[in-house]
Amino acid sequence: MAHSTPEQDGPTRPDGTAYEVVKSEEQWKDELGSGAYYVLRQGGTEPAFVGEYTDTKTPGVYRCRACGAELFRSDAKFDSHCGWPSFFSPLAQDSVTYLEDSSLGYVRTEVRCSRCGGHLGHVFEGEGYPTPTDLRYCINSISVTLEPDPPE
Ligand SMILES: [Zn+2]
Repeated sequence: MAHSTPEQDGPTRPDGTAYEVVKSEEQWKDELGSGAYYVLRQGGTEPAFVGEYTDTKTPGVYRCRACGAELFRSDAKFDSHCGWPSFFSPLAQDSVTYLEDSSLGYVRTEVRCSRCGGHLGHVFEGEGYPTPTDLRYCINSISVTLEPDPPE
């Protein structure tokens, strides 16, 4: 056997390749604290309307809270009124990775950071939001950190 199971090796991408940033669960827990660890590493969801960035309009880049990868730009953020920060597209197509998630009994598309595999949220399509893509990347505030643009 060339490959051992993902459970033994830590998380891998859906195509079987390893994430660039790999740490032990203990290390993640230490660095992230229990709230961010629950969402980023255990696929949890923060409650609606309480996240730090739900209504934030500040121009800047949203980075992965776990590994610092650039994930979303503020100009793709829109008012979805769903209670979580919502973006109509990631910063680059390869900055996020998609996984099928049937944990609630129906299929949703989970969005993870391509660099460390951290759980970010889910993406929904065809909801009729007036955005260029008709996609809603529904992202947990606690999974990301906003780096405001430097003042001009
Ligand atoms: Zn990451």
